Amino acid sequence: MLFHSTRGKDSGKDFASILMQGLADDGGLFMPDHWPQADIDEIKSKSSFVEIAKCIVPLFTASSFSYDETISIVESTWHDFEHQDLINIKEFDSVSILELFHGPTAAFKDFGLQLAAAFFNKVLESENKTAIVLGATSGDTGPAAIDACKSYSRIKSFIMLPNGNMSDVQRRQMSTIQASNVFALRVNGTFDDCQDLVKLAFTKRDFLKTDQYLLAINSINWTRIIGQICYYFYAYNKLQKIENLNFSIPTGNFGNVFACYSAHKMGLPISKISVAVNNNDILHRFFCNNDYSKQLVHETISPSMDISVASNFERLVYDFFLDRDSAKCADMFDHFPNNPIELDSEMWRKKDYLFDSSKVNDLDTAKMIQEIYQSNGYILDPHTAVAAVEAFKTSDASNHYVVLSTAHPAKFPQVYEELGIEINSLPLALRGLFEKKESLYNVEADYSEIINFINLNN
Ligand SMILES: *Cc1c(COP(=O)(O)O)cnc(C)c1O
Repeated sequence: MLFHSTRGKDSGKDFASILMQGLADDGGLFMPDHWPQADIDEIKSKSSFVEIAKCIVPLFTASSFSYDETISIVESTWHDFEHQDLINIKEFDSVSILELFHGPTAAFKDFGLQLAAAFFNKVLESENKTAIVLGATSGDTGPAAIDACKSYSRIKSFIMLPNGNMSDVQRRQMSTIQASNVFALRVNGTFDDCQDLVKLAFTKRDFLKTDQYLLAINSINWTRIIGQICYYFYAYNKLQKIENLNFSIPTGNFGNVFACYSAHKMGLPISKISVAVNNNDILHRFFCNNDYSKQLVHETISPSMDISVASNFERLVYDFFLDRDSAKCADMFDHFPNNPIELDSEMWRKKDYLFDSSKVNDLDTAKMIQEIYQSNGYILDPHTAVAAVEAFKTSDASNHYVVLSTAHPAKFPQVYEELGIEINSLPLALRGLFEKKESLYNVEADYSEIINFINLNN
């Protein structure tokens, strides 16, 4: 199995190459050359998350790693989870909440990033090289990336966060890690400034030592998607008595939705994928009105979904709507966001058989949290609550919904203070965070200042 870009000009790459490269040379996103088929009967018979992952991950890695190598990585990848099988499922009548937040940073991003980091390290060891991880974060990616990489001495992580606009918990998760290969940089600017600086660094690469990789940890990295595909099969395994499975997914960059779609293409039986967004509604506008156009970012109480464009959406356009026509895909995305994307209407209609979307504002998100708390004593995180609205509204005895619960509510304490809800049990991941010493390096949104900092610490 090899990989190629959605825009067609970067192809024939093996797994290790696309792992280390991140974005394709032509600006597109890497895709597998075909959809491998999962052995559904085998998956039904497995009894743990890791056993299921062992059926999925090797389907993508064979071009670079032997089956045994992959299995041994998968067996040792996921660590520091607070649940014996990594994931817990909370059952309501026709809704199941798939709790993906029991990892060391209390958000689902641990699944993808721990897998990517384990493979990064494997490649670095076998080539005897080192790497710099450089990323921008506005929320949960940074903590998960730092945590996933901190124990690998060949990797140094430099994560930029914007000044403000992030929960204190999320910031402290990055600034309180005392590891000599981890640096949290607070940039005097916005998240977009941080992202622009990262992009510039990836084009210039002028600070790297010889034999040093520059690694991308954003959700366009295919290995993160592989880690996430596994938990859709896990949900199926646990809920296999149920006939019609629908997934409702709180969505930002579309990584989680694309992982669900991938699982479907690999043979997972699914009725509908419901794409749930907050006021940042570019995806909802697309699924309702065939309008994919960039607008300004709105701040919401579900900040990890506050995006203006959804990077992984290009993969869906390429695979699902354009039937893998890379020339058409390049034409659309080379000119986006200057030219908004509108599909040929017949092509766009294809969404009806697999996708739904919903948009939930802050007020209704808060109402959902209150309702479930009052009726069941269960506390939804704000992102999960966005997706729960559609699930509780639409599900019934013959239409079961699985809601992806992407973060632990304790990451967003100010939301619950305002609602008068007390969070009694803090996950291990977040305990003592406010007693620890913070080390944050304050920098201007200036390329040379940041590069100087990296050079001094590289
Ligand atoms: C990152 C994140 C999301 C959005 O996931 P995408 O894969 O980018 O769509 C949703 N909820 C939480 C808590 C997140 O951290």
